[in-house]
Amino acid sequence: MQKSFETNSSKLFIVSTPIGNLSDMTYRAVDVLRMVDVILAEDTRNSGVLLKHYHIETHMMSYHEFNKNEKENMILRMLEEGKNFALISDAGTPGISDPGYEIIKACIDHGFDVIPIPGASAILAALITSGLVIQPFTFIGFLPRKSSEAKSLLASFKHRKETLVIYESPLRIQKTNQMLYEIFGKRNVSYARELTKKFETIYRMSLDEAIHETFDQRGEYVIVIEGNKEEEHFDISIVDHIKQYIDLGYDEKEAMKLVAKDRKMSKSDIYRIYKIEQ
Ligand code: SAM
Repeated sequence: MQKSFETNSSKLFIVSTPIGNLSDMTYRAVDVLRMVDVILAEDTRNSGVLLKHYHIETHMMSYHEFNKNEKENMILRMLEEGKNFALISDAGTPGISDPGYEIIKACIDHGFDVIPIPGASAILAALITSGLVIQPFTFIGFLPRKSSEAKSLLASFKHRKETLVIYESPLRIQKTNQMLYEIFGKRNVSYARELTKKFETIYRMSLDEAIHETFDQRGEYVIVIEGNKEEEHFDISIVDHIKQYIDLGYDEKEAMKLVAKDRKMSKSDIYRIYKIEQ
């Protein structure tokens, strides 16, 4: 067995599970889930299907967004007593737009081993099949629900060269496409739907086509967006550039900071010009 099992410290294994296709479980994931004392599962009923499929009989305990704080002390106490845990989420890799970060950090802070058992995650599956430049890339995760916040977050990535990856609900995809087009213009984009499942589909197009496309409202989506490929040339004044960011919800100071970054100028120069020309 792995060296980590032979040390005395208790362990938290972060175990990836399939994102749809049950066969995407690794042998090691099955071994670990059988060997630990407790499996922390986001939804015990949902994970029950997976455990049954692999004849895993380990006791499950619920660990999700709404009970993670109250469960933390008990988990730490049980680790102290020598119990080993595995954390799984409903699908894919725990901690990736899923609960996990807090307990991982708490275990590290208390000196327990945190061990990854890698496997499926929708990010990489979508990215490698997008046909867009694979690295560098930035994973944004889910956009904020409030559209003003989503817009200002996206705007902060507008001038970035790297590929961007977003998780999105099918119900919001149309609205998100409008927003993406408004901010990024005619970039190439890829939509990975229902990866590893029966209706797996990958749509590749440009954002100006996407806003006229009808996307199936069923299933799960990852959106992969091409990075900024244009050489920057600004045909708006510094003042209007700042105002654009203010219109997206940034305050004046943040807007000036972003404009300085976009234009590769110092913040003090931007501030000076803004105060004179405003
Ligand atoms: N922890 C998961 C992972 O590692 O990918 C992500 C969990 S997050 C709550 C769920 C989101 O992941 C979905 O809304 C969708 O954006 C994406 N996702 C998960 N499974 C997917 C699949 N089979 N096909 C496409 N997207 C998927």
